[in-house]
Amino acid sequence: MDDAAPKPRDHAQLRERIAAVVGDKGLIQGEAALAPFVADQRGRYRGRTPFVVRPADTAEVAAVVRLCAAARVPMVPQGGNTGLVGGSIPFEAGEEVVISLGRMNKVRDLDAANFTITVEAGCILQQVQAAAEAVERLFPLSLGAEGTCQIGGNLSTNAGGVHVLRYGNTRDLTLGLEVVLPDGQVWDGLRGLRKDNTGYDLKQLFVGGEGSLGIITAAVLKLFPRPRRTAVAFVGLAEVEAALALLGRCREASGDGLTAFELIPRLGLDFALKHVARTVDPLAGRHPWYLLIEAASGRDDDDLQGALEQVLMTAIEDGLTQDATVARNEAQARSFWHIREAIVEAQKHEGGSIKHDVSVPVSAVPALLAQALPLVEKMLPGVRPIPFGHLGDGNIHLNLSQPEGGDRAAFLARWDEVNHAVHDLVQALGGSISAEHGLGRMKRDEAAARKPAVEVAMMRAVKRALDPHNLMNPGKVVEI
Ligand SMILES: Cc1cc2nc3c(=O)[nH]c(=O)nc-3n(C[C@H](O)[C@H](O)[C@H](O)COP(=O)(O)OP(=O)(O)OC[C@H]3O[C@@H](n4cnc5c(N)ncnc54)[C@H](O)[C@@H]3O)c2cc1C
Repeated sequence: MDDAAPKPRDHAQLRERIAAVVGDKGLIQGEAALAPFVADQRGRYRGRTPFVVRPADTAEVAAVVRLCAAARVPMVPQGGNTGLVGGSIPFEAGEEVVISLGRMNKVRDLDAANFTITVEAGCILQQVQAAAEAVERLFPLSLGAEGTCQIGGNLSTNAGGVHVLRYGNTRDLTLGLEVVLPDGQVWDGLRGLRKDNTGYDLKQLFVGGEGSLGIITAAVLKLFPRPRRTAVAFVGLAEVEAALALLGRCREASGDGLTAFELIPRLGLDFALKHVARTVDPLAGRHPWYLLIEAASGRDDDDLQGALEQVLMTAIEDGLTQDATVARNEAQARSFWHIREAIVEAQKHEGGSIKHDVSVPVSAVPALLAQALPLVEKMLPGVRPIPFGHLGDGNIHLNLSQPEGGDRAAFLARWDEVNHAVHDLVQALGGSISAEHGLGRMKRDEAAARKPAVEVAMMRAVKRALDPHNLMNPGKVVEI
């Protein structure tokens, strides 16, 4: 896959020219300083780069890209480097220059009346949430890495998170973009329009493009009224099938105000209670499955808590759920969320974990679990499955913890084989092998093999049209 990149290259001369554009503050060199930019969080990928560029504004990004393009040196755009599929990591050959957007972190405009915020790509997600909150607005994108990931990375991976059910994913939150193209041209598409039918929706090529078509430098994002009331429930279930009926009832009872509908298996709760401080089981009995349900309303007088309590009481009477509790106050609501957030951290203490980020139609989640769990248990005797996540979006993180006391390396060596078998089931159910993390380097070839040939051909045609020399994050998303 490195063969796609042109060579050889004179990095020293390029570095001098780039230094003249970005100055000392904009250049990182030396093995130790480069280390955080060439490895991913999960330790699956470690690449090399001659240097990292940290431009201060769009003009600098454009000048740097023009210099790289002229020298035919490939580039890897990087945000917070929290991506989970190796998209932001340069290859081992060390040919690519990393362009890190972290210094471009200004809020350029906040138009509360238009319900929009215009931010630079290097803004940390939490910073955007806080800026919106300061004017009584909500920027609803929320995910575990929100203190580190950047808006440019969120856009480029079309990040999902916990509120997709109500507000959509990053794609749905984007009104306009500013992008530096692979030849260094700047596209100013920073429009704050809800309606714009003037041809192809080009911004959507870059949202979810994982940096393969250009560098996003700024975006106009949608804001919403800040919720005045929220209600959070923790529910025990005997079977996942019951969750579907409950999802429908909760959506109706809350005036379609559900903001999260998250699945947690008992073993996931056990891991959280064992390994993560301040986790408390909210229910007295043990149940095979749990749901964390959140509803929100922009009205002060909405009795969401009462509505949720009513739905859950009826669900218990109907035998849909076995037990449930609605948080009495904010602290209790936070403690329910703390369990959900602890699931990923807790798994790290239980040895190796083979992961899947898959989606199926919401109605097919029970079928997926009914087929996938026996399959992985047969393939990996003693495996401890932790299927958890965004049930309301049909997106399950089917994580598999290694057998207790087993050999971690031998277990992880089965990763691709197990992924493949689970992905076959997902495909048969009309699902996706990457619900929210993207393809990057990890799933590029598998996605190409599973997509219709005509779809892959269209993706390649777009890539060739915008990046004919294959310089922008080559070898990620789609190979040309
Ligand atoms: C604890 C944890 C929880 C997570 N939870 C979720 C979750 O719930 N939902 C979810 O969707 N993801 C989740 N993720 C994955 C990750 O946080 C997201 O993919 C995030 O959107 C990546 O942002 P980043 O700034 O770290 O991007 P990076 O990792 O730096 O980059 C990701 C990709 O985007 C490209 N890129 C970055 N910036 C730009 C830019 N300005 N222009 C063009 N391309 C660019 C990179 O080249 C790369 O291909 C989680 C990760 C962690 C570690």
